[in-house]
Amino acid sequence: MDSSRLTDMLTLSHALSSIVAASLPNRCALCQQPLDRGAGLCDVCLDDGALGSVCLHCHRSLERVPPYRCGACLKRKRWRPVISAFHYHGPIGPCVAHIKTRTQPQLVPPLARHLAGQIDALHRQGILPWPEALVPVPTHRARLRQLGFNPAWLVARALATELELPLLDQLVIKSRPTQLQHQLDGQARRDNLRDAFGVIEQGEGQQVALVDDIITTGSTLKSVTRTLGRAGVRVTQYWTLASALNRR
Ligand SMILES: [Zn+2]
Ligand SMILES: [Zn+2]
Repeated sequence: MDSSRLTDMLTLSHALSSIVAASLPNRCALCQQPLDRGAGLCDVCLDDGALGSVCLHCHRSLERVPPYRCGACLKRKRWRPVISAFHYHGPIGPCVAHIKTRTQPQLVPPLARHLAGQIDALHRQGILPWPEALVPVPTHRARLRQLGFNPAWLVARALATELELPLLDQLVIKSRPTQLQHQLDGQARRDNLRDAFGVIEQGEGQQVALVDDIITTGSTLKSVTRTLGRAGVRVTQYWTLASALNRR
């Protein structure tokens, strides 16, 4: 059998197992172990993919918490907490990536529930300010047509439901398409995002959490933060399902 045929068969087999997994709502989407309730992932897989004790700014591993920042980040006067539940380069990374390809959108609520629990716990300890609302990182309309949905919006909606916070999805838009940030570096990354976002509604001095599915470098989140700042909206923190900030 030639290698392209074999690749096709493997791709098909992977797609079929995803469909089978998706059709077995009472089994873990990763290891297929029976679940006590609903769809999603078992506690073992969730723990396996969890970010664990990391610096809340750069996601470097910490031996113990508190403090919730590494030595270098503790020296920063101004910083924004970045709260993520899972390692993008860990076992749950592919589940988060599959949200974009529409093969596993049913995993958004259980993964978001896990992140919401973490956010709530940090807030109760006085580590995080409570935002007045959530804003999803917008996607360009051409990409929206292609995907059928904005993954960041799906995550923000699930978090808004879990945490009973308003979802402000009409404040900011992506005004032009951009290249994938991880394919670029330095100046190219900054040029790629210049004027990529625009404000369509003025906020009223709200303090919000900005939500995305994955944080890779943080430059998209920073760019949207600047745009929201011009509309009078202050982003106090970033919330993402997965983080690729510090590969383990
Ligand atoms: Zn599992
Ligand atoms: Zn740090």
